[in-house]
Amino acid sequence: MPSRESLLRLHPRSFADFTYAYPVLSRRSGGVSFGVNLNLDKLCNFDCPYCQVDRTTPGKPQQLDVARIRAEVEALLDSVDEKGVCRLPLFDALPDDQKLLRDIALSGDGEPTMVPEFAAVAAAMAQLQASRPDLDFKLVLITNATLLDRPAVQTGVASLLAQRGEVWAKLDAGTEAWYQKVNISRVSLDRIEANLIALRKNHPFKIQSFFCSIGGQGWSEAEIAAWLSRIARVRDSGARILEVQLYTLARRPAESFVHPVTPEFLADIRSRVENLGIPANVYGVE
Ligand code: SF4
Repeated sequence: MPSRESLLRLHPRSFADFTYAYPVLSRRSGGVSFGVNLNLDKLCNFDCPYCQVDRTTPGKPQQLDVARIRAEVEALLDSVDEKGVCRLPLFDALPDDQKLLRDIALSGDGEPTMVPEFAAVAAAMAQLQASRPDLDFKLVLITNATLLDRPAVQTGVASLLAQRGEVWAKLDAGTEAWYQKVNISRVSLDRIEANLIALRKNHPFKIQSFFCSIGGQGWSEAEIAAWLSRIARVRDSGARILEVQLYTLARRPAESFVHPVTPEFLADIRSRVENLGIPANVYGVE
């Protein structure tokens, strides 16, 4: 029976003979999360050197099977009892209060909003949530926020979060220069900030930020100030930022020149975010 520590550490994105859905114990969710991997193709419009996805083996070409995704998530929901406790044998070693279902999270081995079927999957998850009013869980979209200005993505986000849910959006840099080292994308960092400001009108969200050094270069004071300024601008636009989640490297990255920051550094960043009046927490990578 896996212990709580190994469940949190291993965090596999596979379960039984399922293709897309998997159950995990998640610190940032505060209990059990049912993940849905929308990117078997491993496609992403970022090229983060810290990425944990193994791209030494190529992804599979895919056309998402929305009915199968729905069936797999429905089967996982069937393992949750009337008190919201997930009864899968995987979690047998945990007390009931640690295995409450907290969310269904759309993410992937790439960027989930890139898939053409995103809106259809989001609608299917919203229907599943509506079909289980006895259960108290959120729908979560984990995204790099680059495509939130696309109408089809906005349609999907709106249906996904119509009842109870959140976007968890990546913001790993304050300046375009660091962004092009840590995320490497053709979409600008200013576009991401604009997308977060636009998101504020309709949805609460969390910001996820990853800290590391790259090739011996770490976060300068100017970079930290620029990153805090972006968060402050998003907040001042009227956004309800529920939390800023802070991470560093916990497992082997894609590139060996990427190194973690210290716990003291993250603790300092946390207090500086809290000084803006925004909750912040430090997590391991999941
Ligand atoms: S956004 Fe996520 S999936 Fe894409 S390269 Fe970065 S870490 Fe990997």
